[in-house]
Amino acid sequence: MNSKISKIRVIVRKRPANRRESSQNDIDIITTEGNNTIIVKELKNKLDLTKYIEEHRFKFDRVYGDKSSNKQIYEEMLKSMIDSAFRKTKITCFAYGQTGSGKTYTMLGNNHIKNDKSTKIPGLYLLSCIDIFNNLQKKEYSDLEIWVSFYEIYCNKLFDLLNNKNILQAREDGKGNICIAGLVEKNTKNIQELLDIVDYGLSLRTVGITGANLDSSRSHAILQIAIKTNYGENFSKISFIDLAGSERAVDTIDTNKKTKIDGAEINKSLLALKECIRALDMEKRHKPFRGSKLTLVLRDSFIGNCLTLMIANISPCLSCSEHTLNTLRYADRVKELRKSKQNENNN
Ligand code: ADP
Ligand code: MG
Repeated sequence: MNSKISKIRVIVRKRPANRRESSQNDIDIITTEGNNTIIVKELKNKLDLTKYIEEHRFKFDRVYGDKSSNKQIYEEMLKSMIDSAFRKTKITCFAYGQTGSGKTYTMLGNNHIKNDKSTKIPGLYLLSCIDIFNNLQKKEYSDLEIWVSFYEIYCNKLFDLLNNKNILQAREDGKGNICIAGLVEKNTKNIQELLDIVDYGLSLRTVGITGANLDSSRSHAILQIAIKTNYGENFSKISFIDLAGSERAVDTIDTNKKTKIDGAEINKSLLALKECIRALDMEKRHKPFRGSKLTLVLRDSFIGNCLTLMIANISPCLSCSEHTLNTLRYADRVKELRKSKQNENNN
């Protein structure tokens, strides 16, 4: 099983309708067909204003309906990638989608939400780390250690979530390696330590240094689990990236100037990310990392042996149909060129 995983896989996850959507009869417009197809029913107006439904179909490496769980996605898509990390492959997992579509739920779960009485659901990062720590018990890996870093990119600046939101600089050394000067990396011996570290980072994520609430949907959160030898040599790295809400990529209604600038930065970084993944997919020598801070800091995760999983998160309802279609089109573009390349190879 899974003898060879393709370098880039793009999957879609639909979240269940929430209480508000159900109570407002915001109808569900998303259905899945088999394991690969997702169908969006868009409500449109004819010139004479009569309504009709346009059906959009998209194919992805895998699609997950609203009954899917983080555990299922982990087992089917990520577990084998984590095994590859122990063969020195760098792993990067992105959650893309509009605010409220389930990115944080997928990546980080809900076990960090204080006072939340519902069942604690671990996110993909925690499920991965359970397997990582299990692997470390094996004799062959006894010389490996786990180092965690957690930072966010907000308004094109890097903030260390493990060090009081200290502002960090990404620098390129003479060899073209990017290093984030001063980024705190914490050596972690077990799951509880890891949970505590991520909890601390998340508590900083939503509250700025001044105590003002920042909108976490405007930042990219990057949780990196570095596997190193006990001599401090890099062995491999697993990155979980909870991307900023993609809705600003199309939103022009915002009139507030600051908000507009944030939106432009987010837009730029998400487009740069897409270009980098496409370049990776086409095995192009040149990858446009410099297009944004996000792609710059992820540069080493895209070079050499690496595997990428992009999870496009979507909301189920009619009121979100425009954002949902935008998300699916973005995700489709990441995949698109690979399809045409396969056709070339087949011809
Ligand atoms: P985002 O990070 O994309 O803004 P969240 O992950 O915060 O979105 O999700 C928005 C809300 O929907 C949260 O209350 C979250 O718990 C809930 N939610 C998201 N995905 C799921 C899911 N698959 N199952 C159950 N609840 C979910
Ligand atoms: Mg979120």
